[in-house]
Amino acid sequence: MAPLPLANIRMTDQFWSRWQRVLVETTLPSQYGQLVSTGRLENFRRAGKREQGGFQGLYFNDSDVYKYLEACAYGLCAHESTAVRGQMNEVIALVEAAQEADGYINTFFQLMHPDLKWRNLNSLHEMYCGGHLIEAAVAIYECLGERKLLDVAIRFADHVASVFGPGKRRGYCGHQEIELALIRLSKATGEKKYSDLGSWMIEERGNPPSVFEAELDDAPSLALQPAARHMLKQQGKYSGEYAQDHAPIRQHRAIVGHAVRAMYFYTAAADLADSRHDEPLGEALEEIWNNLTRKRMYVTGGIGPSAHNEGFTRDFDLPNLTAYAETCAAVGLILWGRTLLELTGDSEYADVIERALYNGAMSGISLSGDLYFYTNPLESRGNHERTPWFECACCPPNIARLIGSVGWVVASGADDGFWIHIPAGFDADLQIHGVPVKIRSVSNYPDSGKIEVTVEVPTPVRFNLRVRIPHWADEATFELVGDGHEAEYEGGYACFDLEWKGSTTLKIDLPMTPKWVEADPRVRDDLGRAALVRGPLVYACEEKDAGFAPQLFVVDTDIEPEERQEPMLEGVVSIVASGVREEDGSTGELYAELGASRTFDAQAEFIPYYAWCNRGPNNMQVWMRHF
Ligand SMILES: [Zn+2]
Repeated sequence: MAPLPLANIRMTDQFWSRWQRVLVETTLPSQYGQLVSTGRLENFRRAGKREQGGFQGLYFNDSDVYKYLEACAYGLCAHESTAVRGQMNEVIALVEAAQEADGYINTFFQLMHPDLKWRNLNSLHEMYCGGHLIEAAVAIYECLGERKLLDVAIRFADHVASVFGPGKRRGYCGHQEIELALIRLSKATGEKKYSDLGSWMIEERGNPPSVFEAELDDAPSLALQPAARHMLKQQGKYSGEYAQDHAPIRQHRAIVGHAVRAMYFYTAAADLADSRHDEPLGEALEEIWNNLTRKRMYVTGGIGPSAHNEGFTRDFDLPNLTAYAETCAAVGLILWGRTLLELTGDSEYADVIERALYNGAMSGISLSGDLYFYTNPLESRGNHERTPWFECACCPPNIARLIGSVGWVVASGADDGFWIHIPAGFDADLQIHGVPVKIRSVSNYPDSGKIEVTVEVPTPVRFNLRVRIPHWADEATFELVGDGHEAEYEGGYACFDLEWKGSTTLKIDLPMTPKWVEADPRVRDDLGRAALVRGPLVYACEEKDAGFAPQLFVVDTDIEPEERQEPMLEGVVSIVASGVREEDGSTGELYAELGASRTFDAQAEFIPYYAWCNRGPNNMQVWMRHF
C-alpha cells in the first residue's frame, strides 16, 4: 500500500474542497505575510548576503519557512495560484542563496554563532530545521516537478552525512524530524544512502552513553538554550525521556516525553520497519501505539496532556481544561498512523487518523484559515483564543501542510487494488495491472454517511477495492449497484475483489446518529461525564450557542438529541441536547446548603469540536455532566 501522487487524488467534498480553497486563497498568503513581518525571511536574506548578526526570532525559525514551502507544494497541487507560486519561488531563491558552499544551512548559526555549529544537538535543532528543508524540497519536486530546492536539500543531506554516520561522528537531533525526511529523500532520489543515515540515527538513539549528556557540559552552546539541562536531567542524572533518548527504540514500550518529537520519530521508524520487513521493530511500535491510543489519547485524537514537557505523563492522565494537545502532535499522530496503516492494512490505524483529523487537528485552524490554536483543550473558561501567529510558530504551517496533503490519508493505491480509508469525496486516477482506473467518491462526509463510489475502467480488470468500516458505524451497508457481489471483510475493511468492467457504482451507507460516549473510569477527569459524537465528529458545547456557560449544564442522556443545520458552518449538522442548568449565583453565598441553587430545564446546541472558538473566546466543554 502506498499513497497516490497528490495530483492523482483531488478532494471534491464540501469539507475538504472548502479547506483547500481557503488554504490557497487565505492561509498560505497570510503565512507568507507572517514570515515577512516576523523577520523569518529577512534572516535568510541576510545569511544569503553573508552578513553577521541581527538574527530575528527563535533559533529554529527556519523550520517554519520550510514547512510553509511544503504546504505551498500541496496547496498548488490542489489549486493553481500565481500569487502563492510567486511567493513560494521568492522564498526558495532566498533559501538557495543562504546555503553555504559546504551545504550547511541554518540562519541562526550562520548569522549569530558560526563557531557553535553542530555543538549542541540536543536542543538547538539544526537537523530538525534541515529535515523540514528536505521535506519541503521533496514535496515541491514531487508535486510541482521543480528541483531547485531539492538540490539545496541534497547538498544539506550530503553535508550532514559528511559529519555524522557510521565511522564518523555519532549524533542525532534532540528534536526528531530529519530521520523521516531522509527516508523521504531516499524515495524521491532513489539514493539508499539517505535512508541508511536516517535508520542509523533511529537505531543509535537511546544507546548509552547518550550524545546529549556530554553536550550538557558544553557551556557556550548550552548558554543558547539553558532549559535543556532542566529537561534532560532529573535529580542530577541524565534522563533522555523528554527526547525519547532513554533507551534504544526496540526497548520502548510506553509513549513518553515530548509528543511531537515522539510522533516524528515513530513515523520514521514505522517506515523503516515497513521497508525492511523488520517485524520486531514493527511489534515494538505497535505496543507503543497501543499504549498511546488506548490509554493516553483524548477523545478528540489530541495527545500530550502536559505543558511542562509538551508531552506525555502517565496512563489515563487526560485533564480537559489544561490539555496541551498541541496541534502539531495531532498532525504527527496522523503521520505515524498513516505509516502503520500502510504497514499493516489494519483499519484501527485509520480510525485513529480519522479521529485526530476531523477533531484534534482541524481544531488547530479557524474556519477563516488565518487564526490558530497551539494547544487544544477540551474545556475553556473563556480565556482560550485563536491567534494569527506564534513566536514559536510550528503549528500554523503544520496544519497547512496537512490540509494540502489530506488525500494521502483518505486513500491508498496498491499493486492489487485500491484502499479507501476515509470515505471523503475525491476523484482518483491510477493504474492497476497496467489499466487506467478512475475512482470517484461522491460524498458529503463527515456530515453524511451516504457515499457513492464509482469505478470506471476502459477494459475489464480484476482488483480489490477495500473500503474501511469506521469503528463508530454500527450498521454499515455496502451495495454494488446491479451486481449481486457480496463484500468480504478483512482487517476492518469491506473488500470487493472482482473483475471490474465499464462503470460500476458502490453505494455505502454509514448511518450517523448522535451518540453519547463515556471514558474509561480510570480517566478521572471524565468520571460522571459524557461526550457527544456523531459519525467521526466529536461535538462541543459553547456558551455562544447555549446562552450560558456549558459547565452549568447537566445533560439528560435519555432524551434523544436533535439534529439541526448550523448556518455558521455552511450546513454542518449541529445537535441540540436537553437537560437542566444551574443558575449562577442564585444563592448569593459562596457556600450554601446542598440543593439551594436554582435549576431550570434547558436545551443546549452543540457544534463540531473543530469549529469551536470561531466567534471569539467563550466557555466551552466537551465532557458534560449527565444524569
Ligand atoms: Zn506546533
